[in-house]
Amino acid sequence: MFRDKKILVTGGSGMVGMALKKILPDAIYISSKEADLREDTSASCVINFHQPDIVIHLAAKVGGVLGNKEKIADFFEENMQINLNVLKYSKECRVKKVISLLSTCIYPDDVKYPLTEDQIHNGFPHSSNYGYAFAKRSLDIQSRVYREQYGCNFITAVPNNVFGPFDNFHLENSHVIPAMIRKIYEAKLKNKDVILWGDGSPLREFTYSEDIAHTILFLLDNYDGATPINIGNNSEISIKTLAETIASVLQYSGKIIWDTSKPSGQQKKPSLTKKLMDLGYKHKHIVFEDGIERTCEWFVKNYPNVRGINE
Ligand code: NDP
Repeated sequence: MFRDKKILVTGGSGMVGMALKKILPDAIYISSKEADLREDTSASCVINFHQPDIVIHLAAKVGGVLGNKEKIADFFEENMQINLNVLKYSKECRVKKVISLLSTCIYPDDVKYPLTEDQIHNGFPHSSNYGYAFAKRSLDIQSRVYREQYGCNFITAVPNNVFGPFDNFHLENSHVIPAMIRKIYEAKLKNKDVILWGDGSPLREFTYSEDIAHTILFLLDNYDGATPINIGNNSEISIKTLAETIASVLQYSGKIIWDTSKPSGQQKKPSLTKKLMDLGYKHKHIVFEDGIERTCEWFVKNYPNVRGINE
């Protein structure tokens, strides 16, 4: 059982890391301030110093559509460096198990829905994020080749859109939920209407960060497979419902204007979590509206001292 083991969490200051800390306070959490994992010697030092039994590898350069597109080489290079170092030194330190997170956005652009794990390497990812996507796909490959040659129990899990406190609320370089929370909140403060892209009809799956944290712990005890495993909610929410939920939670009474001259994005991107369910996963995920409420509450309490605004 993982609970008796020494656990090191990379990316411990990020959104998922902070959610994990709430339910697993005794693990060792590191951020880029303790060790820049792009640097070979920092990664080697931190893993050799702590000698963990288990590594939960969350550290990554994460961004929204614009950031991924404009800095596509940085997303590739930095994530490759971080992953190569973390897994290499985990292998050399004989870490018993490593779980790393991939993302559903690394699936091929031309894919059969629902997203199933066997399709990850079947085609080119979307042109907007192929730097990030190939670095994440390589994390799967690195985990598999270490397993094959050295017998390492390194596994990978694939969340869909994650949201929660400690997210990045940058207007152009964040994900849809934090960007929308900020836009609607600031429109409320300025007594203005809010303009959102597209027509609001696309459906997406969203998972609260604490639920991802619970799933990671479940996989530590219950999954030792070589291939990635999808995790996350399968219920789909329309972008319009998302905006209305956030507006209602933030008590925003202005207008939401849908700018249909801007792209709406793909209509649906459902993923399948049968593999996870077949392991006997029973954790009850938080109701979507409650997750939004907790995230908005955290945002309002900490505004404007949140990542992406004052940092
Ligand atoms: P965040 O952006 O919130 O956090 C990233 C973490 O990585 C921070 O702790 C950051 O440290 C750390 N980090 C970044 N660069 C370095 C570096 N060079 N050296 C050491 N640490 C570094 O990410 P999330 O919590 O949202 O994501 C966690 C994982 O989940 C990532 O692997 C991500 O790819 C994956 N994922 C996330 C999704 C989402 O919707 N957010 C969806 C699917 C997958 P610091 O605070 O010091 O910068």
